[in-house]
Amino acid sequence: MTFSELGVGAKVLQAITELGFERPMPVQEVVLPILLNEETDLIALAQTGTGKTAAYALPIIEKLLLEEKSKRPRSLVLAPTRELALQITSEMRDLAQFKEGIRLVCLYGGQPINKQIETLKRKPQIVVATPGRLMDHYNRKTIRLDKIQTVVLDEADRMLDMGFFKDVTKIIEKVKNRKNLGLFSATISQEVMTVSWMYQRDE
Ligand code: AMP
Repeated sequence: MTFSELGVGAKVLQAITELGFERPMPVQEVVLPILLNEETDLIALAQTGTGKTAAYALPIIEKLLLEEKSKRPRSLVLAPTRELALQITSEMRDLAQFKEGIRLVCLYGGQPINKQIETLKRKPQIVVATPGRLMDHYNRKTIRLDKIQTVVLDEADRMLDMGFFKDVTKIIEKVKNRKNLGLFSATISQEVMTVSWMYQRDE
């Protein structure tokens, strides 16, 4: 399969070419059409290096075309650490570089919250965050989660292992109109199974 056959449009294809991706990696072949076309939840066993970030980032970016008028975040990616959150944001920016009007924000603990509040005023459609800091924003009412359609938990096993279980489940429960919940995990730990069992509609 090619990226085009999987449903990726011209502007994103341009970015893919620029990044030197020649063909989809296996996890991308499976995940891309699901997140692009279906209201289905999924769990993917995927290690770092398999192309998992692009597997969920490409459909998130592609789908934004249809939703340009929205003023509230449409997609949320949760990551266990600041480093991973920044890495995801950087890859998403690269993939979105030719699509105008896409605004991404990265929220993580340790950075002054006021600076993040300023960036949230620019109405990002995509939010990449660590769970604790996202809950902090939610409690301050500086972010609303009710228009989010896609939620991704990256490195879900690590994130749930690090004591974020409560924050993550609270966040999922605040997303009332969710269409996709994607769990990406290197292992299927007990906590990952629990979240999947509690929130996923299909497996
Ligand atoms: P990840 O597993 O998301 O950490 O990705 C590992 C690396 O593979 C990243 O540097 C990506 O930019 C790169 N990558 C993702 N998809 C592809 C692809 N289809 N072809 C070549 N490289 C890719």
